[in-house]
Amino acid sequence: MTKLAVNEYLKTDSNFLRGTILEGLNDQLTGSISEADQQLTKFHGMYQQDDRDLRAERRQKKLEKSFSFMIRVRVPGGVCTPKQWIEMDRIADQYANGQLKLTTRQAFQFHGVFKYILKKTIQEINAQLLDTLAACGDVNRNVMCTADPSESDFHRQAVEAACQISEHLSPRTRAYHEIWLDGEKVAGGEEEEPIYGKTYLPRKFKAAVVIPPSNDVDVFSQDIGFIAIAEKDQLVGFNLTVGGGFGTTHGNKATYPRLADVVGFLKTEQLLEVSEEVLKIQRDFGDRTNRKHARFKYTIDDRGLDWFKQELNQRLGYSLEHPRPYRLTHNGDRYGWHRVSNGTWSFTPYVQHGRLKDTEGNKQKTAFRKLAEIHTGDIRLTGNQGVCFAGITDQAKPEFERLLKEFNLDQPGKLSGLRRNSMACVALPTCGLAMAESERFLPDLISDLEKEMNNAGIWDDEIVIRMTGCPNGCARPFLGEIGFIGKTPGRYNVYLGAGFEGQRLNKLYKESLSHTEIIDALSPIIHHYAKEKDTGERFGDFVIRTGYVKATTAGKNFHD
Ligand code: SF4
Repeated sequence: MTKLAVNEYLKTDSNFLRGTILEGLNDQLTGSISEADQQLTKFHGMYQQDDRDLRAERRQKKLEKSFSFMIRVRVPGGVCTPKQWIEMDRIADQYANGQLKLTTRQAFQFHGVFKYILKKTIQEINAQLLDTLAACGDVNRNVMCTADPSESDFHRQAVEAACQISEHLSPRTRAYHEIWLDGEKVAGGEEEEPIYGKTYLPRKFKAAVVIPPSNDVDVFSQDIGFIAIAEKDQLVGFNLTVGGGFGTTHGNKATYPRLADVVGFLKTEQLLEVSEEVLKIQRDFGDRTNRKHARFKYTIDDRGLDWFKQELNQRLGYSLEHPRPYRLTHNGDRYGWHRVSNGTWSFTPYVQHGRLKDTEGNKQKTAFRKLAEIHTGDIRLTGNQGVCFAGITDQAKPEFERLLKEFNLDQPGKLSGLRRNSMACVALPTCGLAMAESERFLPDLISDLEKEMNNAGIWDDEIVIRMTGCPNGCARPFLGEIGFIGKTPGRYNVYLGAGFEGQRLNKLYKESLSHTEIIDALSPIIHHYAKEKDTGERFGDFVIRTGYVKATTAGKNFHD
């Protein structure tokens, strides 16, 4: 008999994700929960973590690790209200570590929530009509949508589509309500999970809607993607993409990042059935024996794209149309002020790697709360750990500008092109998988690279630079024109050559470099680029043309 991965048995035996979570929450002798429940709580949107900075000290004092939980709040399409922002800001202060983290998937993240206060925190999040269900786990995660600053019908319809997919693919188990919201227990009979079944998916599943020409959601990195197509500012349908995904393991060449393929066009009214059938194909054919080979990208590569199309057509009972033309031009955020078609304004400030906190000289978290307090439009979390305030009227703009100036947020354009296009995952001290720093390391590294960019006269050149503390790929490092992945503390693999529009993966350039070695390795390339780039040539294209790395044309040749 085929031996399944351990998590498969956990899911089967969990009674639709209940496990012994309730019992674990009530155990006051420890700040942690059992290992099995740690896997199950992921489906409820939280990870048990511990402060790795404190491990040695606590071990010495014979104390258990400093356990707490990370909670991820789904924001389908990335759009929330100012009131929801203000409440998330309050919850961060009241129950978490006083900081708000904006994720690369347009979610809010709280860190440092202790077990005894978890339930109250989840209840208060839900009171704001947001939730954490399926923000993590082997299910469809937060559904992303381009944070388009316009106030167009097209954008509204695309966000609506993202919300519908999110709702349609959400687990139906009552466990979440029972455990966190004191909902009534399901009495008798078998609970149903009509789309997922008892064992959910073999691995996580990520979906996004992208509105060309912006590719801020990195649509090709998603398991399933929808490239929104409009006619006369009205959404008419989507090009479907399948099979993107980034998690890899150092030294294991059987794992690789993969960009999605465009497989056809579907009409708006076909959106939910197509999403569901694609997810069910992965449910039925994904590898449940090996979690390192369980993502949809491997199902697609193992069986082939033609097989996938045939399987999908058969399940749908019709064929998708040929993909429609589209053009993506960039995957970063568009900072600063923009006047949009209905006469209102949007403003996108810079948030360093999505971390909002107050420090002695920089009250950034307070600044965003004050902006939310005067804002009457909506707030759009971006796929780059950023925020766009949309729908600012002419009357409201002066007060907005005053606050931006007061808190030194008014000129994101003054930052270098490198910093404006940077992303870093959380990594240490809270992420249990981190092999090296990321969010606490990249800002200083960028400062040193900026010196070279400035000396070379290309301060403003936009170059996508991304770092993660491990190859799980949370900040989508394989789409960095310059990408770093933590190998061991203080050392990183360096990748070069991704496409600026998010259309090409990068390739390994050097292994295991320290901060100084990275600067030494990249400085000559930066100067070379400044001197010999063709007009409009992107850094990622340049390093391929001039032979620093070969182009990665498909996930399978990522390691070549
Ligand atoms: Fe943690 Fe790795 Fe994700 Fe970074 S990429 S947050 S280190 S799992």
